[in-house]
Amino acid sequence: MKILKGYVFRLYPDKKQEQLINKTIGCARFIYNYFLDDKMKEYKIAGKSKSAYDQAKLIPSLSKEKEWLKEVDSCSLRNSLLDLERAFKNFYNGSGYPKFKAKGVHESYKTNNIKSSYNGKEYNSIKLDLKNRIITLPKLKEVKIRGYRNKEVILGNIKSAVIKKEAGRYYVSVLIEEELIKPSFVPSSIIGIDLGIKDLIVTSFNEKIENTINLNTKRLIGLQRGLSRCKVGSKNRYKMKIKIQRMYQKIRNARKHMIHDITNKLIKENDIIVTENLDVKSMQKNHYVAKGLNENPISEIIRILKYKAIWNNKKLIQIDRYYPSSQICNICNYQNKKVKDLSIRNWECPNCHTNHDRDYNASVNIMFEGLKIYMRGIEQVI
Ligand SMILES: [Zn+2]
Repeated sequence: MKILKGYVFRLYPDKKQEQLINKTIGCARFIYNYFLDDKMKEYKIAGKSKSAYDQAKLIPSLSKEKEWLKEVDSCSLRNSLLDLERAFKNFYNGSGYPKFKAKGVHESYKTNNIKSSYNGKEYNSIKLDLKNRIITLPKLKEVKIRGYRNKEVILGNIKSAVIKKEAGRYYVSVLIEEELIKPSFVPSSIIGIDLGIKDLIVTSFNEKIENTINLNTKRLIGLQRGLSRCKVGSKNRYKMKIKIQRMYQKIRNARKHMIHDITNKLIKENDIIVTENLDVKSMQKNHYVAKGLNENPISEIIRILKYKAIWNNKKLIQIDRYYPSSQICNICNYQNKKVKDLSIRNWECPNCHTNHDRDYNASVNIMFEGLKIYMRGIEQVI
């Protein structure tokens, strides 16, 4: 079985390379905006518009007009068109209408590894030399990298790389296709997890994991006030902007670490992990967008659990979101509809008089429900 893994390195370009990266990001943005505009105009007249494939055919003639397009990695321009196509696909699936890309927001470009052979030797346009901490990228040639100190080699095929500028720093994330050898699955442990907002996770072993990441709103407001006091275009304003970006970057990184720690522990200690299939979108609306963190850690935890389970030969089972895990007494199976009220944190079962912690009881039910599903699956196989 083949899997795709992403590796993120800090990139240390020299002055010339830095200029070229910035130029490429600018060109990729130009192509995106140019063809978005083109698509809108075309659609108005004809009621339909060109595909990314047909748009790409126009790049050579456009480059004759705008010579600077020729200086950058042409792959990045074609990927911009695919990005645009994806934005339209998302729009047809209910997301907002594609917007023009502004300078300074999500600054990145993507390039692909192109293989070629010459005299029986194979060449790759992207090469990773972990031993010497160097990555070779189209047009940029050799760039210094840092990251994955304990790895000397990554086996697999490089597919693509995204070069990103964030808070004044450069990063490259390399997508590599690796071969996964799967031994047979013989589970010996199962865990149910209840996912929430304050306690991110409550497990059927009665462990509680809190969300430890908090935005320092006071400091952010202070910084933003400082920013508004700085003159537009001034050096101080730029410095202030970087400070704010770094603050967001720090939070994102802390969150990433927290999520990886949680998921690593769950995957390491359990063979079957059972969660609810939550409607994360509506939870997100209530809580997280308002705080300026537009990604909910819960959806991220589930997304990461999904692939880590595959990589580590474990199983993630998601039970029906309408299963009333909070209302059922895990001792006698009595269903107490009063517990629907989310403010009830503890309750006593009217039937067997057990005292329940709402989330712990739910996690035990989730575990049993997952076990049922797993056993049903086994029966089908036998
Ligand atoms: Zn009971």
